[in-house]
Amino acid sequence: MMEYTPPDLDLQGLVIIPPAIDPLSPKNMALSADDARYITNQFGIDAERPFLVQVSRFDPWKDPLGVIDAYRLVKEEIPDIQLVLIGSMAHDDPEGWDYWYKTVNYAAGDRDIFLFSNLTNVGSIEVNAFQSVADVVIQKSIREGFGLVVTEALWKARPIVAGRVGGIPMQVEGGGGILVDSVPETAAACVKLLEDPGFARQMGRRGKEHVREHYLTPRLLRDDLKLFAKLLGV
Ligand code: UDP
Repeated sequence: MMEYTPPDLDLQGLVIIPPAIDPLSPKNMALSADDARYITNQFGIDAERPFLVQVSRFDPWKDPLGVIDAYRLVKEEIPDIQLVLIGSMAHDDPEGWDYWYKTVNYAAGDRDIFLFSNLTNVGSIEVNAFQSVADVVIQKSIREGFGLVVTEALWKARPIVAGRVGGIPMQVEGGGGILVDSVPETAAACVKLLEDPGFARQMGRRGKEHVREHYLTPRLLRDDLKLFAKLLGV
């Protein structure tokens, strides 16, 4: 992002190239609604009731405890709501376990909160399925890099509620989601989307178009080629 370039340096030939996702990878390939539902049902989610999902490492910057707080506020308005938190336990992230247990304790045995990880067989296809059928995808980060997980959810035409940090605003500016700065805002945005499916669908469609235009691998390849051509002076 331009904001990260030192303003007092004259960087000749500076090129800004955002990341992209591969739409043909298991994480992002198109799943039929039936297949995606089949997968989420296997994990015990009640298909008759709506669910929110956040897919993120268990890390304070991803704020899983804030997501649970927001879910509890949503539940006051929509008692049927379920929450799915998915996080991979990276080998290079020892703090992940502490935060996982902290999150499990915070969920306090609520049977409508589901915590999954790669260690409970939630890998790329399963993440894809949960992102594909969630009623709302949350990314309540309080600090973020680019936030690839937001790209992934937008690509699946899901409405997003996400923290106004890092690379998230530039991804959501196409109209694919609602930016938030607090737990009450997160909850209010989720309720709005859950209560107005037409609005949620429209938002999902806009998000997908924005990703198609800006954050898929063909665009990344074009940018890389342009950069190489520039470097080679051709
Ligand atoms: N991810 C995953 N399983 C999980 C949690 C995360 O596959 O249980 C993936 C997610 O789909 C995304 C990446 O990990 O592709 C996270 O990238 P992001 O830029 O959102 O955040 P980071 O972890 O790099 O801060």
